[in-house]
Amino acid sequence: MTRLASKLKSLIRAGGPMPVSAYMNACLHDPEHGYYATRPGIGRDFITAPEISQVFGEMLGLWALHEWQALGSPERFSLVEAGAGRGTMMDDMMRAVRQANGGQGFDVAINEASPVYSAAQKERLSDLHPSFLGAFQSIGEAPFILIANEWLDCLPARQFVQSDGDWHEKVVGLDDQGDLAIGIATDKANAPAFEMRDGATSFEVQPALETLVDVLKDAFSVVPGRALFIDYGVSEGAPGDTLRAFQRGLQVGPLALPGSSDLTVDVDFGRLRRLAEKAGLSGHGPVEQGPFLMGLGVEARMHALIRANQGRAEEIYKGVTRLVDPAEMGRRFKVICLSAPGLAAPVGF
Ligand code: SAH
Repeated sequence: MTRLASKLKSLIRAGGPMPVSAYMNACLHDPEHGYYATRPGIGRDFITAPEISQVFGEMLGLWALHEWQALGSPERFSLVEAGAGRGTMMDDMMRAVRQANGGQGFDVAINEASPVYSAAQKERLSDLHPSFLGAFQSIGEAPFILIANEWLDCLPARQFVQSDGDWHEKVVGLDDQGDLAIGIATDKANAPAFEMRDGATSFEVQPALETLVDVLKDAFSVVPGRALFIDYGVSEGAPGDTLRAFQRGLQVGPLALPGSSDLTVDVDFGRLRRLAEKAGLSGHGPVEQGPFLMGLGVEARMHALIRANQGRAEEIYKGVTRLVDPAEMGRRFKVICLSAPGLAAPVGF
């Protein structure tokens, strides 16, 4: 049993079952035992696109450069990353930007929940002097582009099921043996307003998507900019329960190893876009990662990299293939862009 499991059991014994979202939040961010707070496992429990190939961050850096230029190359400008992991993507993005224009005008900022990753980012990105945004309050002081890879999927999800004609929230409580178990709250739920698939009897919702859209709306009412998110999920018809846990590359039960496994859900991109458009932002996508990267010229970049590093040709080719192949990450991963109203369509959509 993990130490977080013991802590959660006492909390549940004292205060009753907790919503799935509170469980997910504790598993990821509990200051003493949370997964991201204490033992983040990129490269061990799971692997992300920037860690597979440097070309991923480079293409996004060139995308950001193009969109900065489309904003009129503002002198004060921030490239903001949310959930920057080891700092690899920011490093690769800014190398590409610097090669293309010297990095002029680009201030780098990071929003990161994990103290362990913040420390890694400070070290990795020391020459970029990134500022760390406690929350997103300070975005909006200058035009900005926010980019986040595999960040939306960590935002806690609430789950609801229909039973006897009423909606009830799924909760984590204790079974007869005193072990963690998923159950259904007896009280009727005030389910958040949510467009239901016809006939659906369960749904999952990430309330933080609303908060994110509110933050962007406030910022874009002051300055122009864009927010680009890459993650796994569906464009439409989100399933009702996608909560999954991973440890050392293997899927484990979501209740099996709280705090020592990564917990994640699929992103409902259709909902994110609808929320954004309702708030007056413009939405582009989701498009699939493979075609998005191909449209930005990933093949040409791959060939140039291979020419310069003949000895690593196979590794470079395999990495890029993994990112774009529909049977690997090319289709399952999607890209969505939310922008200040009135801007032309971003490149790649
Ligand atoms: N983008 C990186 C890391 C992905 S893992 C990559 O592609 O490799 C998820 C990242 O989001 C981690 O850095 C994690 O600490 C961070 N994170 C998770 N929830 C967060 C939150 N609510 N606010 C800010 N960062 C968060």
